[in-house]
Amino acid sequence: MYEIIIVGAGPSGLTAAVYAARKQLKTLLVSRDVGGQMNWTLGIENYMGYQFVEGPELMLKFEQQVKQFPIDTLIGEDVNAVSKINNGFEIRTEDGAVNQGLAMIISTGKKPRPLNVPGEKELVGRGVSYCATCDGPFFRNLKVAVIGGGNSALEAANDLLKTSKHIYLISLTPLTADSILIDRVKTSPKVTILTEYETLEIRGKNSTEGIIARDIKSKEIKNLDIDGVFIEIGLIPNSHIVKDIVKLNESGEIMINCANETGVPGLYAAGDVTNVPEKQIVVAAGEGAKAALQAHKYLRYLAGQ
Ligand SMILES: Cc1cc2nc3c(=O)[nH]c(=O)nc-3n(C[C@H](O)[C@H](O)[C@H](O)COP(=O)(O)OP(=O)(O)OC[C@H]3O[C@@H](n4cnc5c(N)ncnc54)[C@H](O)[C@@H]3O)c2cc1C
Repeated sequence: MYEIIIVGAGPSGLTAAVYAARKQLKTLLVSRDVGGQMNWTLGIENYMGYQFVEGPELMLKFEQQVKQFPIDTLIGEDVNAVSKINNGFEIRTEDGAVNQGLAMIISTGKKPRPLNVPGEKELVGRGVSYCATCDGPFFRNLKVAVIGGGNSALEAANDLLKTSKHIYLISLTPLTADSILIDRVKTSPKVTILTEYETLEIRGKNSTEGIIARDIKSKEIKNLDIDGVFIEIGLIPNSHIVKDIVKLNESGEIMINCANETGVPGLYAAGDVTNVPEKQIVVAAGEGAKAALQAHKYLRYLAGQ
């Protein structure tokens, strides 16, 4: 039985791990990957101590800091289920392994929202991507589409300007991104903006060949030949594993108070998966620290200290 299990190794989970380890708690860190969303980020200019750092480089620093401490890790594992047991919590990973902890921190962050159109699932990794920062360079001198009209879509289009031959920006609504981003993209001859267009289908057999979109007012159909599609329509919280034991808000985020408590004694949450406003690395890291310190207090209380 672990004293604490931390699920998720993005900035919040990794920071929680360091704080738990420094309190000498018997700790297990379980995660699908190390770094979370930071792996998708080209450059960071707002993490204190660094004027500029690439996402994967910052994550490596976080990881090295965790590795200084003797905690158990299960990386490359998806937690499928979390349940409450008599004296704590139990997690079940994909391979069927079960681990138990007296306390638990959920720091599972967010994942890209799918478009849910025909062709999307089939062509993921074969032209369909949820990360322009990561996959943009594979589309050098090719035609691509970016789906979405918010900051992440406009940032993606801006990023792709450097490498792609042409970019179709397709948004269901008028563009909602910051005006500075819109101006940058709008002025490029390499971009065609289609607002109030609904994406109906991504075409292709073994790779992406095109996209079919419809003007929501005139119903005019556009059949565009493209080689890649970047779906940038926001993120959804990875909270499904605890949906039956904690309260979620209407966006699916885990509701916590300012001490990272979920309302279930011993179960804490931190970072982007929670209702805490502002989804940023520095915020997630701070929340991870708070959650671990609160969990430590709870464990001392359990031990009657
Ligand atoms: C493109 C992009 C650029 C950004 N740029 C910046 C920036 O410049 N500055 C800034 O401050 N912030 C930036 N952010 C936001 C920042 O990355 C997030 O706020 C931060 O990563 C959140 O950390 P987290 O630990 O809460 O979650 P995440 O980073 O999402 O990490 C969650 C972790 O949980 C794991 N996980 C999820 N579900 C499971 C499961 N069921 N089982 C096991 N493991 C699981 C994931 O694999 C991952 O390791 C950016 C985000 C994106 C997408």
